[in-house]
Amino acid sequence: MNNSIRVRFAPSPTGYLHVGGLRTALYNYLFARKNKGTFILRIEDTDRTRYIEGAVENLLKTMEMIGLPYDEGPDKDGGFGPYYQSQRTDIYLDHVKKLLDKGAAYHCFCSPETLAEMREKQRLAKEMIRYDGRCRLLEYREVEKRLAAKESHVIRAKIPESGSLEFEDLVRGQVTFPWDMIDDQVLIKSDGYPTYHLANVVDDHLMKISHVIRGEEWLSSTPKHIFLYDAFGWEKPKFAHLPLLLNPDKSKLSKRQGDVAVEDFLAKGYLPEALINFVALLGWHNETDREIFSLMELEETFSIDRITKSGAVFDLEKLQWMNGFYLRNMKLEDLATRLKTYFKLESIDISDQDKYLNVIDFAKERITLLPEIIEQTRMFYEDLSFTDEDHLIIDSENAQKLYSYWLIELSKLDNITEETIEEITKKSSNELNLKGKELYFPLRLALYGKAHGPNIPTLYRLLGKDDFVSRFQKVLINSNTKRF
Ligand code: GLU
Repeated sequence: MNNSIRVRFAPSPTGYLHVGGLRTALYNYLFARKNKGTFILRIEDTDRTRYIEGAVENLLKTMEMIGLPYDEGPDKDGGFGPYYQSQRTDIYLDHVKKLLDKGAAYHCFCSPETLAEMREKQRLAKEMIRYDGRCRLLEYREVEKRLAAKESHVIRAKIPESGSLEFEDLVRGQVTFPWDMIDDQVLIKSDGYPTYHLANVVDDHLMKISHVIRGEEWLSSTPKHIFLYDAFGWEKPKFAHLPLLLNPDKSKLSKRQGDVAVEDFLAKGYLPEALINFVALLGWHNETDREIFSLMELEETFSIDRITKSGAVFDLEKLQWMNGFYLRNMKLEDLATRLKTYFKLESIDISDQDKYLNVIDFAKERITLLPEIIEQTRMFYEDLSFTDEDHLIIDSENAQKLYSYWLIELSKLDNITEETIEEITKKSSNELNLKGKELYFPLRLALYGKAHGPNIPTLYRLLGKDDFVSRFQKVLINSNTKRF
């Protein structure tokens, strides 16, 4: 264990886990594993106005389903808890006092109306919209008086008014922000709760976070955070900001344009392994063109210096391809086990284990998402139904002759193999003079319910003699009349 490497995934529970969040979690997890460090889950739930019932539970469940276990976090105290920010409010209030004492923060009594007016004026004057700092100038005594009168207020950071901040980002290199672009950030809101910025910095420090790995949308907040580290006199963690996730049209990936919730992908039948592999490549690749990585392989090969700066396109088709790849290459027994629930939902009896494995082995080539298994296998378990168009083929004289012929041939043989079936197919073709479509369409319709599909020996492997006989009998118009 390397105690100096400590990273965290710090989601604000919004009700679902965004794929961007999954990538942040994954990269933190991989970085921790690769460097024998600690991966921490911290729930940033101080925004009470955004509280959503069940959101935290859902997040924890999704993290578990996807298979990224944390070393420290809710119900797993590593000595740095609690890991819910809502349980740490006293800590933030203590810390903000230190900032006030040092003169790095100040009380602001401006009402929402005053602030709205300020913004409107700035908008009309085409100035940057920001807090103009008027409460910085309040006399100490006046502040005391207004606090004693319990006047509603917030606490703001006293951001430098000029100069600029430079810092090194492990992904983006040297980054510079002029201070006059940075607002006097609210640190404690009027409800007494901290804002993300204060809580995040205090916790990263107290939890001894060594590397802050998070989405690019937080890059512009980093100067505020660095201001706080410096004001407290704390050592700063290293920062790595991950590239934005984009739609194929290069717009920012958002819920409006389709699925972005990890739980929705799982519910649709994407495999956790495929999602992890796919998400790993959204902004990172190793020195080869390789695309397929198991989680363990990623743990060995991941490194921050191979994270790209430019936005990563979320290509759903690639995810689908990858899911199909994982399905086809998974151990058959494992896949069969995972698919059972879909058969159960449809009340399909899969108790014949040999048949079930054969059926899955056959159908796995034809699906990209787990639930599709049903439409690819139902015909092996349930009675077939036919359309009027099918009947034109099935009821034709040639087809009827064919079925009778097969029934007689099958009844003559005991030990039937796929080769025997191949022979019967050839014999029936020669003796009844039926070729191509005339032969295969009626056979497949009777046995498989569709004119197109697998070859006849394969169908035999999946169905067996009894089903072959009963399915041919079923399509025979008059099974007592031997037309052949
Ligand atoms: N709570 C923030 C979020 O929801 C965390 C950002 C960070 O990692 O600093 O993404």
